Amino acid sequence: MSSVKEKRFRKLKRKKIWPSIVAFILFTLLCVGMIVLFLQLFALYIMGTKIVQQYGEMKNVKAVINGFLESGESIADAVISQRKYTFGENDIYVMDTDGEMLIKTGNSEPDFELVLDFKLDRELGLDEGFVAVADSENQFVHDNGDFTIFAMPVDEVIKRTFSPGREDQSVGSWLSETIITQGYWLRAPLGDGRYDAYVKCIIQLQRQDVFYICIFGIIALLLLMIPIILLFINTIRSIVTQRRMTQIIYLDTVTGGKNWFYFRNYAERILTRKINSKKTFAIVNLHLERYQNYCACYGVKAGEELLEAMDGFLKARIGKNEFFARFEGADFGMLLACEGVNEQENQEYCRKRMRSLLAELSGLKPDQKIHFHAGINMIPPYVPKDGKWYHTRKNVDINQLYTYANAARVTSECAEERQITFFDQEMLEKQVWERWVEDTMEEALNNEEFQVYLQPKYSPLNGKLVGAEALVRWISPTEGFIAPGRFIPIFEDTGFVTQLDDYMISRVAKLQAEWMIQGKKMIPISVNVSRAHFAQEGLAEHICQLVDAYGPRHELIELEVTESAFFDDKDILVKTVKQLKAFGFHVSMDDFGAGYSSLNSLKDIPLDVLKLDGEFFSGDDDDGRGQVVVKEAIQLARNLDMRVVAEGIEKKEQVDFLASQGCDMIQGFYFAKPMPIEEFEKKVEKDA
Ligand code: C2E
Ligand code: MG
Ligand code: MG
Repeated sequence: MSSVKEKRFRKLKRKKIWPSIVAFILFTLLCVGMIVLFLQLFALYIMGTKIVQQYGEMKNVKAVINGFLESGESIADAVISQRKYTFGENDIYVMDTDGEMLIKTGNSEPDFELVLDFKLDRELGLDEGFVAVADSENQFVHDNGDFTIFAMPVDEVIKRTFSPGREDQSVGSWLSETIITQGYWLRAPLGDGRYDAYVKCIIQLQRQDVFYICIFGIIALLLLMIPIILLFINTIRSIVTQRRMTQIIYLDTVTGGKNWFYFRNYAERILTRKINSKKTFAIVNLHLERYQNYCACYGVKAGEELLEAMDGFLKARIGKNEFFARFEGADFGMLLACEGVNEQENQEYCRKRMRSLLAELSGLKPDQKIHFHAGINMIPPYVPKDGKWYHTRKNVDINQLYTYANAARVTSECAEERQITFFDQEMLEKQVWERWVEDTMEEALNNEEFQVYLQPKYSPLNGKLVGAEALVRWISPTEGFIAPGRFIPIFEDTGFVTQLDDYMISRVAKLQAEWMIQGKKMIPISVNVSRAHFAQEGLAEHICQLVDAYGPRHELIELEVTESAFFDDKDILVKTVKQLKAFGFHVSMDDFGAGYSSLNSLKDIPLDVLKLDGEFFSGDDDDGRGQVVVKEAIQLARNLDMRVVAEGIEKKEQVDFLASQGCDMIQGFYFAKPMPIEEFEKKVEKDA
């Protein structure tokens, strides 16, 4: 996955739920704060109205006393007269301007240390001269550092609110019963400032006051509960959505298990964990063979059910620090934790484990034959350069590691008997080489890096040079000399071999035309034509055009087809060979005897030449059986009116034997190796 794609994916996955949770918590706190604030304000308001009322009463007391003072009474008499005259219940405490107490009624007195602050002086319309101080018998006045306030303990208020009333009491009188009484003193300057007096007031909290506050609180709470509940539902919903989304992102829709994206993240986390850096792991590519065929026969649904069953099976077989997921198609990736103490043991551990896993998996569908292959890429412990313990694996690319396991598995498919294959450096080099060849082959052809080498063919009868085979050599400016065995199979896989064959045919035709013009001795040259080429319609005309572009005689060119080509579409092959022959070209069967027997093909295809494979002559032939086969093969070719060329001849005895059997030509290192054209031309002058 590209980094941009990955980022987008991660972003999607990481859609945060915490903003909703934080929003919910903040909103709830805000609501609770607001309720508490409102309740406090309401309580203050109730208290405030009581205080305003008592402040008015105090002013009346003050006016009456001032009246008595104005009529000439002493301050003591004025206070007593006021109490008598107005039946005043308020205690009074009078001081002179020096603070000396002159007269006081009642048992308690103001506590000048605690000046009360109601916080609502202005809102309640209290004037600037309003001063209130606590009573010396104060129960509920507190100095909290900043200001002094009434603060009744909540539990006390609750206890008193819900205390049972007297039995004979009506509900109304129970409600209006005073539950808390607290005295305080209001300042009342008397006699034009000659006296400083304080009038005692009593603040009382009735049960109904508490109920008012509670009802107000409950209503506020109910009103605020609606948005809180809505927000709560929304938060829960977004959490659920987020979870579902994460599940979907990580869901493999075929197996119902975790998908490859999850595997990659998980495996990467396991491998890069510090604690795991000293352990050996293995990334496995598990491949179910012929899945498409299974789906075609039993249906896609059955195929998917099989993959689902595999998922369930593997889930039950993996341990701690291990994981698996479907990669694509019928390929699963696995991360295995190895338990051996060295490389060999770990490999053996993986092999055994996979062997038993594959055996069990093969029995997953008792009535159906299913077959698996596995490629394993071992991930050795991480060895840091400085040897320090705290390092951990870096740049772990699970896809890359898996690709190597997959490459190993693909190789194991070639060797059917090998069900489990380990990835090694050689495989990587092979892959790198194949990539290099594919990347550079076209440019190399354009740059004429491919050169024609010619290997002479000799007559065993007179030892004269009578023919040659054109063999390609790649002279790369970077890699140097490259033998065809290293690139022809890759060209065959990619189909590029047809372009190379065309190039070689053209080069040979050109060479022959040059020889003709220069009046040199004309030597027939055979050119290899790959089997991929023979699948093409109109090949004969195509070759004809290539050769005619230079104009040599057609019979000087022979086309070699490998024996394996005869197993492809025989009808096309027969048709092409006949056409080629009709155009005057010679056609030979290359590598006869190297693969499967194609005697049958000899019957149907009118070939000119049979090239006996070098395998016939390699190794010892102590019992002479090899000679019998060669002798019969030559006889067979002769009877079919074909000429015989023996390839890979390296010894004199072989030449002598072939000469005695009437072999027409010999090609082999005994006479000459493939060589550049100039060298060949010199050889022709000498040997032809
Ligand atoms: P081939 O067509 O059977 O070519 C004969 C191979 O045997 C050549 O290998 C040649 O060098 C080798 N050879 C000849 N005499 C001896 C001997 O005495 N001892 C030993 N050990 N080897 C001998 P080379 O050139 O490496 O080519 C290998 C194969 O590559 C060829 O087998 C042919 O199948 C393919 N090839 C080469 N050039 C071309 C080409 O231009 N087009 C196509 N399609 N295939 C080509
Ligand atoms: Mg050949
Ligand atoms: Mg050959």
